[in-house]
Amino acid sequence: MSASRSDASSPLRPATLAVTAGRPAKEPDAPFNAPITMASTYVATGDLEYGRYGNPTWSAFEEALGALEGGRALGYASGMAAVTAVLDLVGLGSGVVAPQHAYTGSVMALGDLESRGRLHSTLVDITDTDAVIARMSEDEDCALLWVESPTNPALEVADLPRLIEAAHELSIRVVVDNTFATPLRQNPLESGADIVLHSATKFLAGHSDVQMGALVVRDEAVHKALKDRRDLTGNTPGPFETWLTLRGMRTLHVRLDRAEETAKDLADRLEQHRAVTEVRYPGFGAIVSVVVEGGGPAADLLVRDTRLWAHATSLGGVESTLERRRRWKAEAATIPEGLVRLSVGIEDATDLWTDLERALDRIAPR
Ligand code: PLP
Repeated sequence: MSASRSDASSPLRPATLAVTAGRPAKEPDAPFNAPITMASTYVATGDLEYGRYGNPTWSAFEEALGALEGGRALGYASGMAAVTAVLDLVGLGSGVVAPQHAYTGSVMALGDLESRGRLHSTLVDITDTDAVIARMSEDEDCALLWVESPTNPALEVADLPRLIEAAHELSIRVVVDNTFATPLRQNPLESGADIVLHSATKFLAGHSDVQMGALVVRDEAVHKALKDRRDLTGNTPGPFETWLTLRGMRTLHVRLDRAEETAKDLADRLEQHRAVTEVRYPGFGAIVSVVVEGGGPAADLLVRDTRLWAHATSLGGVESTLERRRRWKAEAATIPEGLVRLSVGIEDATDLWTDLERALDRIAPR
C-alpha cells in the first residue's frame, strides 16, 4: 500500500491522497486497484485468520480514509453502525452531551440507550459553546461529547477547537461526525478530537449505491478498543461495499469542488427568491437548507414539483436531491416545518436553478 499524509518526506495534498492512498504497491503486474477480496476465512497462522477480523479490501479503504483524516480508520456496516460502536464505548451510567440537531438516528440511538438505563444524555445547542461547556461541567459522569458539524439539517457549525479543549480538561472524550464536511473541508483529529465518524454512505461513496460507515482515531488504545469490539459484534462492512466506497473516494475532491461551487451559487440565488424566508449554508460543502414561506404544506409542494431534483432522503450523491425533513416524526421539533434540505449534486448549475426556481415560483405566485 502507498501514500500517506504522515509521510513527512513527501507530504501529499488531499486531492493526491484521495487518488493514491490505499493502492497496491507499484510493482510489475500489480493491479492498480485493491481487488475485492471475497473471503470468510484465510489460510491459518497469518494476520487475518477469519473474515470478521480483517479483509484486504477493508485495509485499502481504511488506509485511504486514514490518510485523508490523519489517523487510523475502521470500516463499519453503515454510518449508524459506526454511531453505535462509539456509544458502545460509553460506560454504564455515564453521560453524553450531544447536539439537539444532530442526525436524527444519532439522537434516537442515544434515546434508546437512555430508555434502557444504559446512559443519560443532554441535548444542547452546539453553537452555544459556553452552554455546551457548562453542561459538560455540570455532569460529573459525562464521558462523551458528541459533535456534529455542520449539523444535519440545521447546518450549524461548532467551535471545534474550544469544545475539544474544554472537554479534554474535563477528561471527556470527543467524537465529531464529519459526514457533511468530509475530510477535505475539516480534519477534527487535527483539532484534537478523539474520534471522527463518517456515514460513508454519503459523500465518501458519493453515488447513492452503498451503505457504509467509518471511524478514524489517532490513539492506539481507542483503536484497539474499537477493533476488539468490531471483532466481537461483527459490525463489519461487506467487501464489495467497501470497494465501491473506495472507488467513490477517488473522485471525492472533484465531486465536492463542483457541488460546492454550485451550492454557493444556489445559496445566493435562493436568498433572493420571495418564496424563501431563510437560507442556511455554512459557506462550504454541498448541503443547503432553506425554509420556505407557507411552512410544511408549501415545502411539500416544492419537493413534489421539482423534476430534476429528486425527492429523496439521504445526501452526498452525484445527483441532486431534496427533502422536507419534518416529514420524519423523529426530526427535532425545533427544525421548522417548512425546512427543505437540498443535497447539491454535480449536474449543470443552470439546469438545477431553472428547475428549483420554477418549483419555487409555483409555491409563491406573484
Ligand atoms: N451521520 C449523519 C450526519 C448522517 O446524515 C447519517 C445518515 O443520514 C448518519 C450519520 C447515519 O449513516 P447511515 O445512514 O450510513 O447509517
